[in-house]
Amino acid sequence: MSSCTVCALKADHPGIVLDAHGVCNLCNLDFAEDLLINYRYTNEVFTQFQQAPPADGEFDCLFMYSGGKDSTYMLDKFVNDYGKRVLAFTFDVPFESEHAAQNIALAREKIPATFVVDSDDDNIKLMMREVFNRPATKRPGKYLDEKLPCVSCRTFFVLRAILMAYRQKIPYIALCADPQQILTMESNVVEVVRGFYQTFGERLTGTLFGGELEELLFEEEQNLPKIVFPFIAMRHEYEPDRIVEELRAKGLYQSSPLETHCTLLPLLNYYSFKNWDCMFYKLNASSHVRSVKRSAQYDRNTFSLKFPRSLDLADVEERLGQVVMAIAADEGERAAHETELVDLFQRMGATEDAARFVSRSFLDMRSVAADLGVRLS
Ligand SMILES: [Zn+2]
Repeated sequence: MSSCTVCALKADHPGIVLDAHGVCNLCNLDFAEDLLINYRYTNEVFTQFQQAPPADGEFDCLFMYSGGKDSTYMLDKFVNDYGKRVLAFTFDVPFESEHAAQNIALAREKIPATFVVDSDDDNIKLMMREVFNRPATKRPGKYLDEKLPCVSCRTFFVLRAILMAYRQKIPYIALCADPQQILTMESNVVEVVRGFYQTFGERLTGTLFGGELEELLFEEEQNLPKIVFPFIAMRHEYEPDRIVEELRAKGLYQSSPLETHCTLLPLLNYYSFKNWDCMFYKLNASSHVRSVKRSAQYDRNTFSLKFPRSLDLADVEERLGQVVMAIAADEGERAAHETELVDLFQRMGATEDAARFVSRSFLDMRSVAADLGVRLS
């Protein structure tokens, strides 16, 4: 299998095409024009939002609040700098470890917004079971197909937020996606709904959302909330280290190296390897390799994941794939798997503690799968 000579993405990675020189379409910036159009639209909506007079209802905006550093930083800005009346919406994802809970508690104490926690364990699990168990899309696939479970989970709670904003007549929804995600995040509410119907079909969508989503497809545009992406509109100011420093000074942040750990990460890797022969973080890692090769300022890129400069991506990926598939098949020794995983995660830049913590979760993959009703073949 040939790979991009710049970033090591394989020729059959979903959405990737290599040119005659073995360079992929991401490295060739084939998306640059789409990106510019998206950026322009995002900037317009954000400016509109900042200049909007107070809304008729109780809230000017529903803010998707995860408790991570980015969304805590922006929530504080929205409420205290922009003076917006904010409904801070947290979706309790049953697959997430609870490291963000402390930050949410601090924010509740210190930021004058209205906080709401939403959850729907049964339906989000039903959806995830469906994603993992059904056959994947056929090759070559579309951009991000290898991340379908992750993208679906996110879309599920964005849709819950859209429905809440719609019911309460809140005109804007703020989403703290990082600049990389704009290529694939729909900014139009109707398109988000339509995309979900396309992926899951009418019947399952009806079961998951009780038929309420359909109404949105026929609603007039001015009655639907608009999605704003503040970090993308302000992408030139995005500096993770400064954000953490500012939050600490305000007593709004307690860091944990594992803050957004998803308990499904091992299964997400299994899915990517099994269906697409790549690791879950391949696009992020490739983007890192690309910036290292192209620019001395590689650590100023805008993604929150950091990889070491000397990452040997092809080697790490191959070894990770072997151990993930062995654990899934219940083959090999637990201790040997653990040693291998700890080494791999350290190569990807994790501290030893973090590497050990994540490795343990990989070793438990089979019981996580069984709990969720996911078949490992
Ligand atoms: Zn490339």
